[in-house]
This record gives sequence, structure tokens and C-alpha cells, in this order.
Amino acid sequence: MNRIFLLGCAAAAFGGDAIAETLPAALPAAAQTPAVATPNVVVPNNPLLGEWTGPYGGVPPWDKVRPELFPGAFQFAIDEQRREYLAIANNSAAPTFENTIVAMEKAGQRLDRVGTLFGVMTSNVTTPEYQALDKEWSPKLSAAQDEITLNPQLFQRIKAVYDARASLPAKEQRLVTRYYESFVRNGANLDPQQKQQLTAINQQLAKAFSTFSEKVLADESKYTVATAAQLNGVPDDVKNAALASAKEHKLPAGQYAIMNTRSAVDPILTFADNRALREKVWRAFVNRGDNGDKNDTNSTIAEIVKLRADRARLLGYPSHAAWRMQDTMARTPDNAMRLMMKVWPAAVARVKEEVADQQALANKRGDKITIEPWDYRYYQEKVRKDKFDFSQEEVKPYFELNNILKGMFWAAGELYGYDFKENTGSIPVFQPDVRTFEVTDRNDGHVVGLWYLDTYARTGKRSGAWHNAYRARIGLLDQKIVLNSNNNNFTKPSPGQPVLISLDDAETMFHEFGHAIHYLTVDVRYPNFAGSQRDFVEYPSQVNENWLLTPAVLNRFAKHYQTGQPMPQALVDKIEKANTFNQGFATVEYLSSAIVDMMMHTDPNGVADPDKFEREALAKIGMPKEIVMRHRLPQFNHLFSSDAYSAGYYSYLWSETMDADTWAAFEQTGNVWDKATAERFKTILLATGNETDRAEAYRQFRGRDPDVSALLKRRGFPTD
Ligand SMILES: [Zn+2]
Repeated sequence: MNRIFLLGCAAAAFGGDAIAETLPAALPAAAQTPAVATPNVVVPNNPLLGEWTGPYGGVPPWDKVRPELFPGAFQFAIDEQRREYLAIANNSAAPTFENTIVAMEKAGQRLDRVGTLFGVMTSNVTTPEYQALDKEWSPKLSAAQDEITLNPQLFQRIKAVYDARASLPAKEQRLVTRYYESFVRNGANLDPQQKQQLTAINQQLAKAFSTFSEKVLADESKYTVATAAQLNGVPDDVKNAALASAKEHKLPAGQYAIMNTRSAVDPILTFADNRALREKVWRAFVNRGDNGDKNDTNSTIAEIVKLRADRARLLGYPSHAAWRMQDTMARTPDNAMRLMMKVWPAAVARVKEEVADQQALANKRGDKITIEPWDYRYYQEKVRKDKFDFSQEEVKPYFELNNILKGMFWAAGELYGYDFKENTGSIPVFQPDVRTFEVTDRNDGHVVGLWYLDTYARTGKRSGAWHNAYRARIGLLDQKIVLNSNNNNFTKPSPGQPVLISLDDAETMFHEFGHAIHYLTVDVRYPNFAGSQRDFVEYPSQVNENWLLTPAVLNRFAKHYQTGQPMPQALVDKIEKANTFNQGFATVEYLSSAIVDMMMHTDPNGVADPDKFEREALAKIGMPKEIVMRHRLPQFNHLFSSDAYSAGYYSYLWSETMDADTWAAFEQTGNVWDKATAERFKTILLATGNETDRAEAYRQFRGRDPDVSALLKRRGFPTD
């Protein structure tokens, strides 16, 4: 199957997707000054602050959410959390696991609930009011987060429990260790002057992140003008989109505007016969943030990388990457780099073959060109047609949205014993098109969760596809029924019309549903264990993609929306054959970005000239001249619009290595529906959340560490 690293999760780095890393809850600034505890505070009559009520152990009150309720709700919940942490930090009793760690695990629940509601409103149905609220409250919430590790009394109590951890059971040892290490990593051991320095660095970074995002966004709001004649070869829907953009920008009739975004640029590079137009559009896109004007990001990047290097040094780490990778499976930059370099040479070799095929085809057509980066997608598409006679349009009639849904549910039933049944009415939703499904365990019929599905694109909904967790199964908090959602951006059809989706979209649906299954299955004692490490989180979702293109699913559910006939075997065969096509390009485009990320963030001194650094780094690894990085540094939002995916872009490859190796485990049983293997995967790797070391859990499942050869094989690369 065509593998796209960022499948469905391009926005993962910006929160919301999947199961976010669970960090200890925030301790606001005022917690540092002792205050009188006020245990009998009355909760205001604000629907956002109440416990969730109704069926399924209580559900979010979507029907009562309004933007004007948030300021009061945030302020009260932040104040309450402050009182909760003060009570812990200033407790006169000797520190124990119970009165310190467990107390912290229970703190801040109301703020969590308000934050969950707010996150959905800003992602799914945002308005200018919500955007203004977001600007106002994000810094306040993150300032509250920043303070937690710098409270000396609180840290002393954590340290006392940590020092005495040998007497605790394994799970509790792991929890207190995670708290202790997270505090230390974030500056708890610094002296007061260093803490001030750290706070200053963090604030400068936050500012620089906003500056970077603003500049890139400004360059993406530009466009290239084209005429109808220049758009020969481009599909009608792409032309129509360019025409709509032209109207929006009030261009004269007959002109088309190609926006400087990936979704607008890629189809032009793939289909436009006009080579000069392809080059122009390509140059505008790859030079976002790199034009020497007011939107140039090079100086911002240099500042960010320098601040990160300074912060790492202050915290006692050799580099930002070393610091950032503490709480990951890979653990060290070297480990991540080693994996990437195992895949890199094979990908580069494949690119040489792909370019040779393209050049041969161009020569045959008498095109008299040498393949350049703006030619790659165009000639690759021609080679694909030539070799496999396969087009996405052929598949769509067999991939009707509701049939794919049924296929997903059926697979989850076969593998994990889950049944999905749609609710009709009665459950509040944040938008009338949202559907809800009750999830039960088919062994004993108990309710596992409530799964929300928000299918359609709308103004104010962020692009892409993602999973969102509303409430986890957590023993300590007596939370038994999981609440979560999948979110897509399909165009809403006219009444009675089907939604026909592409193969890529169907894979994305299985991917996001894999996140949902993971989260529905997590069953942990402590909130901290409900999250996933950054380089583990894409693993269960990528594994779930594998079941889409199985005969069992295709024969039962890939039925023509008009005739009801299953997909013809000839078409199934074409999909199968085209499986490893273009993997040289996809892999090199992604990996070069991930490798340069790691090289940059292991440099102890920062990088004065990002452009030069990028050029030299790519020369060092032998970047094929026909491809550019998927994200060049001047526009690499993952790295420079927050800390989240800095020194972390490798995570997709790390997760996919486990995914391919896990799929191989299913295949090796001779039956990819093998119930025993599914049960082991579910209980050892999904249900445990982050309760046990993930590398150990993997070894327990597979009997060894992940082996990269399955990934190489899947991508069609030699494995020796
Ligand atoms: Zn994902």
C-alpha cells in the first residue's frame, strides 16, 4: 500500500491528533507563594465547570458550550488547580506517594475538562470569538504549565518520594520516576538565578515560535497567477479551485491563482504540462520563508536554535536533541539517527532508479529535458500510468464512506471483539452532522466507550484528519467508559448522494481509527499513563491501516456504490502491484527532513546560517539533486512553531518500523486475522498505555526488538 509518513497526521505536531503525551498537570505561578487554603469555594453556575452528566458515565455538554462562558470557566479552573497544588506543596505531613504523587494525579481535573471542550471548539467549529479566546488564554495556560517544575517545595516532596521509591510496587515506581525526571528535565534542580534564565529563554522561544509561524503563513498566503492555456493537463477540480482562489483575490476574469500551499501546489507539479509554470510554482513553494524579505525566517530559526542550545546547556545536556529525547523510546539522537541511516541508502538508490525511468520516458516522448525537482512528480505520474495502468479515480466508486466505516468496524470486531452501534438522537454533539457510536465488548456486552465521528469539512474546521481523546479509562479516577472522536474533512454531499473517497483517504480513515481503537483499549491506573511517547503514538494507528487492503475487507465492503458489486480482482491486483511505487521519492523527501532536524538539534552551538547549514547537511548525506526536503528549514513548522516535534520528526519512521514488524508477525501466523496475535497485541501493547516501558512491552510481544527489515521490504527496498 502507498505509504505516506504523515498520513492523516500532518497536524499531529500541533496538538489534537492521537494521544498526546501526558505531562504532569500544571502548577500556576501563584502556587509559589504560600496562601491560605480555601476548601469551601462555591463552583459558579457555569455549565462548562460542572461534572459531565447523562449516559456513558457522563458526556461533554456540547449543547451548552458558548464562547462567552470560557473566560469565567478558565479562570475558576486555573484558580482551583492552584489551590489543589498549594495544598499538596504546603502539606505539613511527611511526603508520601499517596499525599504527593497520587494527589497530583488527581489535581486539575476541572481544568482538563474545560480544556477538552475548548480544544474541540477551536479545532472543529472555530469562530473569530474562539480565535480571540485562544490568543488570550493559550499564553496564560502555558505560563501556568511553565511554573509547575519551578516550585521548590513541591519538587522537594517529589524527590523525597522518589528517593524512597525502592519500597514501592513497579507501577508506582515508574510513575514517581516519570514525575521526578520530568521535573528535573524542566529545571527543578536549577538555582534561583538559573531558573530565571530558563524562564526568560522559554518566553523568548514562545515569542520566536509565533514570529516563525506568522512569517510562513504570510508566504503561504501568496499565489502564482496562471492562464487557462498554462493549465493544460490539470484536472478540472484543481482548475476550479484555482479559479475560486482567483475570484477571492479579485483577479481579472480568465486568470487562475495557484495558492502557495501543498494541497494547491502538488497537483500542478503532478499534472501541468507547462514546464515553466511547474518551475515557477515549485520555486515559490520551496522558498517559503527564504526570500530575503520581511517574511524571511532564517534569523528567527538561528535565534530559536541558539536559545534551545543555551537551554540544553543550562539544564546540563549536550544538545537540544539529547534533552528533548529523554522521554522517548529512541532515547538518544544516535539511536534515531542509526535507524534513519539504515533506510537512507536504499531510498537514495531507489530514487536513482525512479529518475532513470522518468528520464527514459521523457526521452521517448522527445521532451529534450533533464529531470529537475519540478519535473519529478509530473514524470513519475506518467511512469505510473505506463507501468501499472492504475488511477485513483477507478477505485473511488468502490470506496463509499459508509462501506469503509462498516469495514473498519468489522475488522475491529474480528480482531479485538468490539461492536459499534450508532446512537440515534439524545447524545449532545457540537455540530449537527456529528454521529456517535456506542462501543461494546462482544464477550460480555459491557460498554467500552462512546466514539464520535465528525466527517465533513466546514468553515472554521482545521484541515486534515485526526483523533481526539475526550476521556480515558483510568482506575484512580473511576473513569470506565472512554470518550473519543475521529475527525475528517470530506466534502458534504447533496442529500442522498454518496461520499466516494480515494485509496489514500480510506487508509487515513483506518489510520485514525487505529488511534481510536488504541485509546478505547487503554486501561490504566494513573492519568499519567494514559498518554503515549511521541515515537510510539503513530504505531497502533499505522498498524491498523494494514487491514484495509485485505481480501476479507475488500470483498465484503469495497462494493460499487451503484451496482453493489465487489471490487474486480483485476483492480485489486493493480493496487497491489503499484504498492511500492514512488517509495524512493516519498522516503527521501521525508527522511532528509528528519535527518537534517536531528543534525541541527545535536549541534551544541546552534546554527548561525540555516540556509548554509541545510545545504551542507544535505551534501554530507548525498541528497539526490532531483528532490528537495519535504519541509525545508525556512518553513519547517514541526520544528520551529513549537518544541513539540523538534528533534522528533524521526518519530514517524520509528513508529512505522514497529508497525511493519508487527504486521509481519500477523502474516507469519499464516492468517492476518489471527486472534491470538491480536489478543497479545491488544493486551501487551494497547491496553497498557504507558504503564510499562514500551521497548520492553514490544519485546514481550515480539520476542525481540523491532527489526527494520519488514519496513524495508514493505517499501520495496532490499533488506540485506
Ligand atoms: Zn496518526
